[in-house]
Amino acid sequence: MKIGIMGGTFDPIHLGHLVTAEAVRESFALDEILFIPAARPPHKLGKFVTDEQHRLVMTTLATQSNKFFRVSDMELKRKGLSYTLDTMNELHKTFGRSTELFFIIGADSLADLFKWHAARELVKKCHFIATTRQGVDVDFSAVESFFGSAAREHIHRVTTPGLEISSTDIRDKVRSGRSIKYLVPEVVEDYILREKLYDDR
Ligand code: ATP
Ligand code: MG
Repeated sequence: MKIGIMGGTFDPIHLGHLVTAEAVRESFALDEILFIPAARPPHKLGKFVTDEQHRLVMTTLATQSNKFFRVSDMELKRKGLSYTLDTMNELHKTFGRSTELFFIIGADSLADLFKWHAARELVKKCHFIATTRQGVDVDFSAVESFFGSAAREHIHRVTTPGLEISSTDIRDKVRSGRSIKYLVPEVVEDYILREKLYDDR
């Protein structure tokens, strides 16, 4: 089994996440993609993050029409900080050692990978698929010199459709009463408006 992992705050999940996950699934012939909303991402401490139940519901709604997409609440259940190393260890326990894990990260996150908790150990244990993100240029030679040969074997780069969409931008739009049509799935748009999620921040 080859499983793709799409982690994120998903506040809210948007078409950039979805189109990327689908493109990676196809190019790497992955059996499924697991979307894992993060409880409290270590790099977003001090920032307001929407209630986890709302983020879980939106992620579930957004992925339900793709039979290869699944959602896991494992990081929400674990509480505390979401470290990818813990998540990966838990997934290896669940799926067994023969399952290969592929973490999908945006170019912006790849540039920061060396700062992650236990980064070197992580890169040895699982694969990373770094996708292109508009406006972000990653110095791969810097990544390689930090991670050494593990980088060549376990960090893969892929060009994906590259939609210039961010959750930050979506939250701003909602707050200022602008349209978010075609940036998020319709079910997610309906949910955001019905629950008045980003009206005041
Ligand atoms: P925020 O603006 O709140 O930081 P975001 O849009 O960056 O939100 P996250 O939940 O932080 O979304 O991102 C989760 C993962 O998805 C990260 O690896 C990020 O690089 C990737 N990602 C986010 N937006 C896109 C996009 N438009 N295209 C490709 N990958 C994306
Ligand atoms: Mg982000």
